[in-house]
Amino acid sequence: MGRNPKYVNEFDYYLQKTDIQSPTKCWEWSGSTKDCGHGMWGYKSYKNGTKIASRETYRLFKGDPTNLFVCHSCGNAKCCNPDHLYLGTAKQNQEDRVKHSTSNRGSRCGTAKLNENEVLEIKKLIKNKIKLIDIAVKFNVSESTIKAIKQNRNWAHLKPD
Ligand SMILES: [Zn+2]
Repeated sequence: MGRNPKYVNEFDYYLQKTDIQSPTKCWEWSGSTKDCGHGMWGYKSYKNGTKIASRETYRLFKGDPTNLFVCHSCGNAKCCNPDHLYLGTAKQNQEDRVKHSTSNRGSRCGTAKLNENEVLEIKKLIKNKIKLIDIAVKFNVSESTIKAIKQNRNWAHLKPD
């Protein structure tokens, strides 16, 4: 820790980066956002790249979302009001995006840059028959990125132990 001395803890970071309104309104992320509109959670550096603010908000208030998706009942990707966040499967998340016409934005969000260690980890997960979509969520990339790794269209030179 100690990378961000101006924040007392994660919760303090959240409070400073979120535009808190009345309980029913959207509380938009005021920090940096990705191309898709999702807030970028930069409390400290993470080995798997930038985290998504709404997902970290869910973890902070309601617990670890594990392999499930954090969906927005309001359809506002920037929103970090815990009351507007719920856990869903890949299918529910997709339906939610279609309902709010944000399906394109959603798919463009999965463009995190992977490093070699992450790709090795992904290859191990593929070998262990973990579902591609679950791997994609874990690493904040699109399912097609994982598929390309599986089919050796990307990162073919890396071989897991
Ligand atoms: Zn909202």
